[in-house]
Amino acid sequence: MSLSFKKSQAAYEEAKKVIPGGVNSPVRAFKAVGNHPVFIQSGQGAHVTDIDGNELIDYICSWGPLIFGHNDKAVQEAVLSAVQNGTTFGMPTEIETTMAAKIIELIPSIEKVRMVSSGTEATMSALRLARGYTGREKIVKCGGCYHGHADHLLIQAGSGAMTFGVPSSPGVPENIAKETLTATYNDIASFKQLFEAYKDQIAAVIIEPIPGNMGLILPDQGFLEDLRTLTEANGTLLIFDEVISGFRASLGGAQKRFNIMPDLTCLGKIIGGGLPVGAFGGKAEVMDHLAPFGEVYQAGTLSGNPLAMTAGYTTLCELQKRDPYTQLEEKGKQLKEGLEEAAQKHGVPVSINHLGSLLTVFFTDQPVHSYADAQTSSTEAYRIFFESLLAEGIHLPPSQFECWFISTAHQDSDIEATLKAADHAFKAVA
Ligand code: PLP
Repeated sequence: MSLSFKKSQAAYEEAKKVIPGGVNSPVRAFKAVGNHPVFIQSGQGAHVTDIDGNELIDYICSWGPLIFGHNDKAVQEAVLSAVQNGTTFGMPTEIETTMAAKIIELIPSIEKVRMVSSGTEATMSALRLARGYTGREKIVKCGGCYHGHADHLLIQAGSGAMTFGVPSSPGVPENIAKETLTATYNDIASFKQLFEAYKDQIAAVIIEPIPGNMGLILPDQGFLEDLRTLTEANGTLLIFDEVISGFRASLGGAQKRFNIMPDLTCLGKIIGGGLPVGAFGGKAEVMDHLAPFGEVYQAGTLSGNPLAMTAGYTTLCELQKRDPYTQLEEKGKQLKEGLEEAAQKHGVPVSINHLGSLLTVFFTDQPVHSYADAQTSSTEAYRIFFESLLAEGIHLPPSQFECWFISTAHQDSDIEATLKAADHAFKAVA
């Protein structure tokens, strides 16, 4: 089987005339894997239908929000009902309080939360708050972690920036970039060195507790605990960017899964139920420094939008009700083991990282614990693998350095079809 994507190709040519690169976010382009992106008509469950009429098994799932897959009935019905009342007011609505209370109930370290409209806004605002609260200017991030595209976070960033080799984008002023220090994920010594060199100057460490933007990397035993101890000892706020891991690593995010409490948490993706949402929250004592009564300014015309709150709140309630985490872990494991078996059969060296419903296949013969390890992966092997799977109707992220997202809607039959196609794909790579 080899699908045809002729209409997508034509749509891409049209899009490029009016949209830079033909896409509204770089990770959607197929720059890293060659060729043109697939244009989508609709989605249902674990599948998307493209404009050529191909039905594809989707492992992007909108890059994380769709933990129940496309068009979940409960979320869809709630949004359709909410839209009857209007789309936005710019005045308070009760659903914002209901949503905040639900996040506080589920994410252990959050006592107060402010809603925004994207993950980028969440991390940007959390860092401003950390700087305002501590009176310090420097921040620390890890090479390969991605926290959105705000100036001070686009330094050695993962995801599209890693794929496209833009470690620090033109347009980011040097004066801003120099306040961002970079450490190495899973290497506590690299953080200690920064704390020694910049004593009493570091406002916050921001980190993806489970990085997903250099491909999936898991924390080594003790690393996050040591980071918690180190930041606390230095009066530095620890910010967990749980935009991916929130409500995915567990119902209470990575912090609940590993029992480590940050000072501030950034959320996005799943909490929007497929609509544009982000949030940041933490200790009330810190959060109360925000405007209108605190001194740190932060705002948003569509923040707490009632449709987005409804989609997100319904998703969180359904997660509580359906408790899909054991099932998702199992699906992820099934996929990982099947892929390892197929790779081995064809003699292709791979290292597969998996946690719950997140997975990355690295084309390398060494375990991947760090940004440097991830970079040993063969992007050419990934390109061939990606292309072969797409031709058989399996849509992976069009970049090596991303997570595959599994949803509750992925059935055994989807995983079996994926493994069958992967067998051919590994053969093509070999
Ligand atoms: N933080 C993490 C960990 C992310 O993966 C992303 C996006 O992929 C962001 C922040 C930025 O979120 P958004 O794209 O909604 O601005």
